[in-house]
Amino acid sequence: MSDRMKDRIALITGGGSGIGAATARLLAEEGADVAVVEHPGRRDDAEIVADDVRRVGQRAMVALADVADEEAVKRVFDETTADLGVPDCIVASAGVAGHPDNDGFAGLLDLDADQWQFVLDVNLNGVFFTIREGVRRMAEASQSGSIVTLASVAAKIPTAGVYSVSKSAVWMLTRAFALEAAPLGVRINALGPGYVQTPMLDDAARLRGGSSSEWFDTWAARVPLGRLGEPHDVALAALFLLSEDSRYLTGSLLHPDGGIAMRFAGG
Ligand code: NAD
Repeated sequence: MSDRMKDRIALITGGGSGIGAATARLLAEEGADVAVVEHPGRRDDAEIVADDVRRVGQRAMVALADVADEEAVKRVFDETTADLGVPDCIVASAGVAGHPDNDGFAGLLDLDADQWQFVLDVNLNGVFFTIREGVRRMAEASQSGSIVTLASVAAKIPTAGVYSVSKSAVWMLTRAFALEAAPLGVRINALGPGYVQTPMLDDAARLRGGSSSEWFDTWAARVPLGRLGEPHDVALAALFLLSEDSRYLTGSLLHPDGGIAMRFAGG
């Protein structure tokens, strides 16, 4: 534990689960105050993470929003600014593997318009609303900062249908925003994890049929470093991108993936 993130105010969407939750805990250990943003249906998960943040002596709050709802995202920034201050450290981690009603992996040929739109609304529009609001608020406050988006190796590998499409778009969104935000003193970088053991990976296994453990074995065998990722592996990379350690880095895509992108997607 250090004070690398002392006096920083973090806002993390999807902060009640998986990568978002691990990042919230790590940032708090490094001295940041944290707004844990979650879907309205997952308040309890967010409260658990917020309690963990308080336990290490940092301020925490829970804010609820469906990130696909533009006005709700704005409200979350209002609430965070009122309670903690202007966030200068943002992680857009909220995302879905597919439509909740899908009971099997739907390739693009089998996808209906609602299923297609649902994934893009959360994975792409949600990130757009979050970054745009974050940069606007920092600019208004003449505040520099750093933003991290969650792309995926799927941004470079087209095997996950609309999920791959959404993550590829997040990658370009990150770069396009990074260019506009650089003169404002705001850096924006993307993370492209591979297989990380979170509820989403369970969901990805469910969508493909069969047991999670069988899929986990299959996926782990593809990873050059020989194991699936843990949420903390990705949180460490997020900490780097949010801290001053990466002060000359913007518009990049970093892969905390055990080597998957190198092996299957040219790096
Ligand atoms: P997770 O399921 O544990 O977390 C996803 C979070 O997003 C949950 O907290 C969920 O409540 C929230 N969320 C979903 N829809 C939302 C909505 N409409 N509004 C607000 N919140 C919403 O999964 P995770 O693995 O921690 O995923 C985090 C991010 O990392 C995602 O963007 C995911 O695509 C990306 N990612 C994950 C993996 C992996 O293998 N787990 C790999 C690459 C990228």
